Amino acid sequence: MKSVTMIGLGPMGQAMAGAYLDSGYEVTVWNRTPARAGHLVARGARRAESVEAALAANELVVVSLIDYDAMDAVLAQASRAVLGGHTLVNLTSDTPDRARQAAAWLAERGAVQISGGVQVPPPGIGTPDAMTYYSGPQDTIERHRSALEVLTGIEYLGEDPGLAALYYQIGIDMFWTALAGYLHGQAVAEANGISAQDFLPHAVKSMDLRYFVQFYAPRITAGNHAGEVDRISMGVASLEHVLHTTQASGVDGSLPAAVLKIFRAGVTAGHGQDSLTSLVDVLKRR
Ligand code: NDP
Repeated sequence: MKSVTMIGLGPMGQAMAGAYLDSGYEVTVWNRTPARAGHLVARGARRAESVEAALAANELVVVSLIDYDAMDAVLAQASRAVLGGHTLVNLTSDTPDRARQAAAWLAERGAVQISGGVQVPPPGIGTPDAMTYYSGPQDTIERHRSALEVLTGIEYLGEDPGLAALYYQIGIDMFWTALAGYLHGQAVAEANGISAQDFLPHAVKSMDLRYFVQFYAPRITAGNHAGEVDRISMGVASLEHVLHTTQASGVDGSLPAAVLKIFRAGVTAGHGQDSLTSLVDVLKRR
């Protein structure tokens, strides 16, 4: 019978353990707070009494914890002998460096880490469009492909264990800043009596940046920052209008002020008449 150990039963780990049970796996679970395993045990999962017992149950161990400090604290409860020989699919989010350190730490103990960055929230686990960035030894990933695909599809990035975390963090960087933009815009809307529902079609249109990303990426790659379409000086004037509108609405202006500061740095660096894409180089130098 196919079997797996799941360490970490936050919303994500619970969804993952559930997906394995749905797929007919024998699932062993361990969580710092044992009570979170209750409904999984009721569905047939086995609750391990210790980290070592959880590891001993299966070669394949999926780890989903809040961060790598938590993972260190959990794996410190296992002896070198028990850790050896395992494949740890580490779907915990943290920095690329932490992912590399963890892979090296596990390798010293005879275990292999597959690093992963899950790109969907817990309800997306086990759905057809779900995807996870993976990096690490490709042969190990291929060997466990069918088990990994119970959770999500596989977007393999390369052998460097930090790559999955790097792509994940870049994506999350874009996600948080764009989402903060939406929340800020909605605050201005509400301060002016426009409900989220009323603004929804306009928000969807404004948040669709695909045209810009597809237009800019080849130009950034080519180092072409000509300002024939957009100029940083135009962006500065526009952001000043946004800031004034925000302040006149009684809304916190720290978000547009931060963006304005970056654009002004572009002007100071001599790029006022260049495309917004020249901010990529300005930001890299900061
Ligand atoms: P959390 O990030 O809140 O992780 C909760 C888990 O971490 C629980 O099992 C918790 O144990 C455990 N934990 C926290 N601190 C410690 C510690 N010091 N020692 C041992 N265990 C600890 O919940 P999620 O399940 O949502 O996320 C898991 C991972 O998945 C995170 O890295 C997150 O960034 C990533 N992720 C989450 C997404 C989401 O939408 N939720 C989307 C994509 C990725 P206990 O139950 O005992 O508190």
